Amino acid sequence: MSQAGRGLYIHLPFCPQVCPYCSFAVTGPRPQLHTRYIEALVAELTLRQGEGPGGPLDTVYFGGGTPTLLEPHLLGRVLEQVRTVFGLAAGAELTIEANPEGADAGRFAALRALGFNRLSLGVQSFADASLKLLGRRHNPAQAQEACGAARRAGFANLNLDLILAVPGAPAGDWDHSLQRALAQEPEHLSTYALTIEEGTPFAKHQRQGRLTPLGEEEQALQYERGTARLEAAGYEHYEVSNFARPGFRSQHNWGYWQGGEYLGVGLAAHSLLGGRRSWNQRRLRDYLGDVEGGRSPEAGAEVLDPVSARGEALWLGLRTSEGALLPPGLAGRGRLTELVAEGYLELRGERVGLTRRGFLLADALGVELMELVEGAEAEP
Ligand code: SF4
Repeated sequence: MSQAGRGLYIHLPFCPQVCPYCSFAVTGPRPQLHTRYIEALVAELTLRQGEGPGGPLDTVYFGGGTPTLLEPHLLGRVLEQVRTVFGLAAGAELTIEANPEGADAGRFAALRALGFNRLSLGVQSFADASLKLLGRRHNPAQAQEACGAARRAGFANLNLDLILAVPGAPAGDWDHSLQRALAQEPEHLSTYALTIEEGTPFAKHQRQGRLTPLGEEEQALQYERGTARLEAAGYEHYEVSNFARPGFRSQHNWGYWQGGEYLGVGLAAHSLLGGRRSWNQRRLRDYLGDVEGGRSPEAGAEVLDPVSARGEALWLGLRTSEGALLPPGLAGRGRLTELVAEGYLELRGERVGLTRRGFLLADALGVELMELVEGAEAEP
């Protein structure tokens, strides 16, 4: 099993428009702020030089938002500062997220020339009705064209993000979408069930009775069909929502799931360094004001106590195909034995992992095991 490398996350919050289900720290396009925000990122990287996970970095992830809304020369300015401040390991994985609308081979080629070697496309669906229901601006033809543009630009490591369980989508959209995604032969696929987050327009629509989330059973069926199809096509199901061709796991996300340390810069970005989790200001005005005033944009922090750290490692590890190290005191617990007997969990030497059935209930099982860990720790 590969170990977590040194990772850096950089948040670019601008999007052509904010999607009605999005709960990330994002804002509209605001081109007048692009250069100013980039300079703030450069300044924050300098400010946090001593804090980082050390260098050279193994992975850098430009996420958002829609990072590719910014001109390549601005993104290049940030990458240049990353190289100066931390350095990059040979063969470092440099990912950038992009959306299909406005994608073109010329822009993608400029990103390749800067050194990005992994492109993550927010396709979400290849079905017209689902894209409209999600409030997305692109259509299936643009999604397909974006994949072609990425290949023409020389990206040999392409991820496609897909959303399953789109409320109100015609039956068959998910399977059709997956089939068209596979036809693009991506190296990696992330398939997330749509969750309705408080504070989003979708949450309001749900309260008004205008939107009904898919039932758990239908969600589970879509997930199971998708998993079986992707595995049959040669993809390794290496995390609850993630699938990769051999050798193409996301090294950056793998670091998160292994409990590795990382630095996050930019609006609302999180960091985990030395057992301390911190997060940046979430309002753009506050973030810019802090950095431009020479202050840390940190908005809050917590130190993980050993029990929480163990619980979190269990939670994250459980979501991967390798499973998690079984915390001391848990082996032989009645409830653990029951979950194994019921076919949700598997014990593999010193590790515990989810079965295919268990993957469907990953969150609930994670919570239950964390409670078992806390209970075992509290015992005299
Ligand atoms: S494109 Fe992605 S990050 Fe931007 S608003 Fe839509 S879901 Fe959020």
